[in-house]
Amino acid sequence: MDIQTLQNELLNQRNINTQLPNLGTNAEGYLFTRHPNNVTVCFGPNGGPIVPAVRSYPNASEAAIYADVYFQKNRAGDFKSGHRSGIVGMNWRCDDPQCICQKETDDERFRRGVYIGRRA
Ligand SMILES: [Zn+2]
Repeated sequence: MDIQTLQNELLNQRNINTQLPNLGTNAEGYLFTRHPNNVTVCFGPNGGPIVPAVRSYPNASEAAIYADVYFQKNRAGDFKSGHRSGIVGMNWRCDDPQCICQKETDDERFRRGVYIGRRA
């Protein structure tokens, strides 16, 4: 999946026609966009979406299309994956000052966003 595919699926599956922004590509090669309902979605260098704020998701494409719905299902509190805010920056840090990611190293935040959530 890429940004255009996600755009198409949002329209087809959810009748969402908001233009997805290309927010840039970070140092690790992940392209960042934002779901219209304010949840960050990334596309990895090998393809495939990632929703770093969501704690777990069995199907990454579905998680990208329903990123806002999945984020709402996050359990409250601090876990090894996910974030308190749906908006995650290109340094893998979210914008909630209370989130555990604020105290983590770059490597820990990368694992939090990219790897752990995808295991469901
Ligand atoms: Zn966070």
